[in-house]
Amino acid sequence: MEDTLTLQQPTILDATLRQLSRPMLPKILQVQQGIIRATHGFMFRKGLTQLMPLMLSPITDPLNHGVVDATISYAEQRWSLTKSMIFHKQLALVNPELESLYIVSPNVRLEFADRAGTGRHLFEFTQVDFEFRNKDRFFVMDFMEELVNYIFAQLNAELPELLLELRGELLPQYEKWPVYRTEKSEALYGPDFEKIKSEAATVPFWLTNHKREFYDKEDQKKPGTYLNYDVIWPEGFGEGLSGGEREHEYNQIVKRMDEIGTSKETFKHYLQVAKDGLLPKTAGGGFGVERMTRFICRLKDVDETTVFSRKPFAPAIF
Ligand code: ASP
Ligand code: MG
Repeated sequence: MEDTLTLQQPTILDATLRQLSRPMLPKILQVQQGIIRATHGFMFRKGLTQLMPLMLSPITDPLNHGVVDATISYAEQRWSLTKSMIFHKQLALVNPELESLYIVSPNVRLEFADRAGTGRHLFEFTQVDFEFRNKDRFFVMDFMEELVNYIFAQLNAELPELLLELRGELLPQYEKWPVYRTEKSEALYGPDFEKIKSEAATVPFWLTNHKREFYDKEDQKKPGTYLNYDVIWPEGFGEGLSGGEREHEYNQIVKRMDEIGTSKETFKHYLQVAKDGLLPKTAGGGFGVERMTRFICRLKDVDETTVFSRKPFAPAIF
């Protein structure tokens, strides 16, 4: 019998070399680099302070969907690989001198096999995460709309030939984006509402009011509604950003954790900060860099933006 290793290794190696040798890849990467370059410029102009990302912490985003556990032991503690910087954004804003911040942050979300073929998921990706003290959802939504127009204008100015080659035309400048309520869209279009609406759309839009992680704020005037928002890219490209106003009051956080079934033991120090009244009132969001690149370049699969495939459950050797 032949050694299975010698049979398998060249196949994965071939696929890996094909992935990194694609002639279009450097062009896609230049667009992605342009997104980051424009983002830094915009954040600087708007006065947000850049934080460096963390890859390990005793707490990370519990997410709204299950993923494979990504924790390690170190120095007699458990450490999670970062799924998003949500709590660190809030905690960094405990410093009263800091008004707003952003992080270009690697996120590890070990998706189950059901997300392998969506074209939208990578098990490791980059998120531009941002947060503001004392701002609300309207401010953050305006901010994101302005950021997208800024990035698109910069790309049009800096990389017009690449855009023509990759997407067939230059990027648009959008007017105010439409806003839809999640529960109303679901009632109209059924469980696939996000996909259906994204495929029908020609401009990005907002979906608001998702019941999800405990940190997204519940409307105190209308309990059972949530002051959060997702960006949905048009042309079928789907979700591109999640964000929200945040819960910052201890009793409300505990109530939401109990409803959702979040471990209070895991978050005991975070809860202590909230109990001491130190957690500031904030709002923010984060967009997926590879998903924005995919939308701009009109790529079939987000994995076309990676040099080394990070498609869930695709075998990898590098
Ligand atoms: N970054 C997001 C937020 O600010 C959370 C996420 O990563 O989904 O709400
Ligand atoms: Mg999301």
